[in-house]
Amino acid sequence: MNVALIAHDNKKPTIINFAIAYKHVLQKHKLFATGTTGKKIMEETGLSIHRFQSGPLGGDQQIGAMIANNEMDMVIFFRDPLTAQPHEPDVSALIRLCDVHQIPLATNLSSAEIFIHGLKQGVMDWRQVLKERRDKGK
Ligand code: PGA
Repeated sequence: MNVALIAHDNKKPTIINFAIAYKHVLQKHKLFATGTTGKKIMEETGLSIHRFQSGPLGGDQQIGAMIANNEMDMVIFFRDPLTAQPHEPDVSALIRLCDVHQIPLATNLSSAEIFIHGLKQGVMDWRQVLKERRDKGK
């Protein structure tokens, strides 16, 4: 599965701890992140992550493009609901695209914990089956 990891600045310690705790699950998947989030998680966990631009510079939109192309299977995005973000329109657009394309989106730690257990159990594996069928032109 392709999994996106994003966290606003005040939530970066939370996503780092999350990635440390669930490294054993995350390392079995292809990981993507906005620039700073990805850098920090890689430094702290050693996980391999494809990093996009930093969020305020377009990283959220790059992840949004993957969603629009049906290339992203899950988004874990720890938003900071108490701080105004300069790139709020990009954040809203990303959330909107998850809803448009039925992509699971966890915006806080409690939801992400449930998602990660689902990922471990393979509840999203049907997407891989569909992808393989599509690639074969079925
Ligand atoms: P960052 O971006 O990982 O580059 O900090 C996250 C965001 O604010 O969207």
